[in-house]
Parts: sequence; structure tokens; C-alpha cells
Amino acid sequence: MPGYEIFGDEEKKEIMDVLDTGVLFRYEFGEQRKGIYKVKEFEEKFSKYCNSSYGQAVTSGTAALKVALTALGVGPGDEVITQGFTFVATWEAILDVGATPVFCEIDTTLNMDPVDLEKKITAKTKCIIPVHMLGAPARILEIIALADKKEIPVLEDAAQAAGARINGKHLGSFGRCGTFSFDSVKTMTTGEGGMVITDDEELWRTMSEYHDHGHDHKVNPGTRGGEGRRFVGFNFRMMELQGAIGIAQLAKLDYIVKSQQANKATLKEAASKIPGVAFRTLVDEQGDSATFLAFTLQDREHCLRVNESLKADGCGAINFAENSWHFYPKWEHLLGAKSPIHSGYPFNDGGGKKRIVYDPSALPQSAAILDRTLVYPVSIKMDTERLATLTTALKNATKV
Ligand SMILES: *Cc1c(COP(=O)(O)O)cnc(C)c1O
Repeated sequence: MPGYEIFGDEEKKEIMDVLDTGVLFRYEFGEQRKGIYKVKEFEEKFSKYCNSSYGQAVTSGTAALKVALTALGVGPGDEVITQGFTFVATWEAILDVGATPVFCEIDTTLNMDPVDLEKKITAKTKCIIPVHMLGAPARILEIIALADKKEIPVLEDAAQAAGARINGKHLGSFGRCGTFSFDSVKTMTTGEGGMVITDDEELWRTMSEYHDHGHDHKVNPGTRGGEGRRFVGFNFRMMELQGAIGIAQLAKLDYIVKSQQANKATLKEAASKIPGVAFRTLVDEQGDSATFLAFTLQDREHCLRVNESLKADGCGAINFAENSWHFYPKWEHLLGAKSPIHSGYPFNDGGGKKRIVYDPSALPQSAAILDRTLVYPVSIKMDTERLATLTTALKNATKV
């Protein structure tokens, strides 16, 4: 699962390139940096890897979502549809641009259900964010077909899906843009960091300038600071050390995916012996980044019994229905409209009136799926001993 498992000489060398020049900033310092532009190189290599035209590196996957939404022009009064099974960052970014998150059900892909998506689209929907959770795809082609009909842009949250594909095409490269996270537990990591990819040059230019205080990146008459500004921006700049690590990690990404696929296959084989077990629907099994194995049991009761057995063997699995960071009914701070801002923004309007009200029981289909689903993270390096422990635990769980 996390790229830090295989940090090595490659990352060290890239970092030393930066420290040797002393330039940690991605822009300027012309002579001093001796031609070394690690963030720029990382953007170019990452977008090329994904077969996408442009890459915009930023400080995090959450920042990537915010920068992308802003560049798409999403703001107050708009609705953005995403799924109720995701990391909180997806809707934090929607709230942060002043828009309203609308949650839709997941299906057996554990990602956005296109059938429910269609029901949730309104005249106010200004963006759709399917999330490729746990490293495997949403039904992205169906979602885009639906969105295209209504002329709504699709932003893919591919934070957990670096290296994953459908028929060879990278997740994140299907929609108007796609965002990635390189935080410390993601498939490839730069500690903190994120990226937006897109084929849309104008969108990329807006993201590039917005993430850098609005500096005009096209018309730059000489030195930095002399250029104009098309709009107000912010600072979401990645630093050179992160870009350096990113370059080294990216070179290992296909190896990471391949190793995880092999480990996952072993675990899946063992889990397949549990009576009544079913596996998450994979849109393209070959393209799965295999960072997680998800399997569903017959019902909630069976799921709990299986997990008790796994826990007794020291191999308890994650049940996302109980997880407070990834599932809608558990987001009490969202449901309770808790804000540190005195006016209650963004949940209240200017007059202090509640603008958004969420019903915790609004996603019964998602709950019915996640209630009986167990998940194992899959590591890059799983020694034979750990694999044997896990397969024995899964074998024992066939009897409960
Ligand atoms: C990790 C993650 C993010 C946010 O990324 P950070 O780099 O941690 O800010 C966004 N969406 C999903 C689905 C994630 O898993």
C-alpha cells in the first residue's frame, strides 16, 4: 500500500540533487538552481505516465481538489455530487469553495452508483466527483456519459488510485481533470503532496496561476513579481524536495502495482473459500492497483463473526461501516454542521440560517453494502510469513 515501504537510494539521490543547489522553491533562482526543477519535472513525468497533457503539482490531494474545483469555476450556490463512501477530504474541498456537497450511493464497485447519480443531478449541479476508492475504478465511462448529456464536468478523485487503469487508460485521465494524493499512506508518496492532471490547457493555466497567488504564468516580462494577475489566488505550491521524491517514487509505481497484485491474488484465493463470500466488482481487474482487497459476506452478522475470527488470529480487517473518516453516517461533524467560524459558514447562510441539512439515514444502499464488507490493505512487501499468517486466518474464518 504505501510507497514509503520501498524508499531507497533513488529517493536519496533525487533529494541530494536539490540540497546540493540549496533551492527549495519551485520557481526562480535561475542560476543558483543549475537547471534543476524537480517539481516541474515531476509534473511532466507524472502527466506523461498518465498519458495526460498537463500536470499541476500542489501541496496535497485536498488542495488538488480545491484547486481543480476553483479552476472549474465552482462556488457558492452550486451543488457538487460525490459518493458517501470516501475520505472526508473530498467534501471538505467542496465546502471550502463554498459549494454544497450532495451525496450519492455506492454500488458493488464500492464507488459511485450511476443509477443513484442520475437521481441526484439538479439544475444546480456544477460538478460530479466520482472517487476511485481503495485503488479501483468507479464506473467512470457510465458516469461521464451521464455527465456529458447534462454538460456537467467530471472531476475524478483518484487520490487512492495512482497507477490504476481501465483497459490501459489511467484513472484520473477520463474526466475534465483528475486529482491525486501523495500523502504518507498513499500508493506513491511524497510525504504530503498532490497533483491535478488534465488535457485542457486553459484549465491547467488557471490552476497553475491560482495555486501560485495568481501570478500570470503566461505573460511574464522578465523577473517574477513583474507580471500581471488575472485573478486572486492562493498558495498551494509544492516544494522541490517533494517533487524530487515524487520523481523517484513514480519510477517505482508500476513495480508497486505489480507486487500488490501478486500479494492480493494470494489473499483473494484464501478469502474465496469463505462460504457465501463475494468480491467487490472490479471494472477492470487487470488495471486494479491492488492496494486493497475488499470482500463481502452474507450479512452483517456473518461479517462480524468472520472478523471476530480474523481478529482472534491477529488479522482483523477494516469494516468501513464503522469507520468515522470514510463513511457518511459517521461524519457527525458534517451531519451536525459543526464549523469553527462564528457565523456557522459554510453550513449557515449570511443570516445564520441553516443552509444544508443532512439526514444520517440518507444512503441505505451504501450502508447495506459496507455493513457486510471487510477490507485488507495490501502491502508492497508482504513476506511469506505474513502472507501465511493471513491465509491461515482466512482459512480459519471459513468455519464460522
Ligand atoms: C487521501 C485522500 C484525499 C486527500 O489527500 P491528502 O493528500 O491527504 O490531502 C482525497 N481524497 C481521497 C479519496 C483520499 O483518500
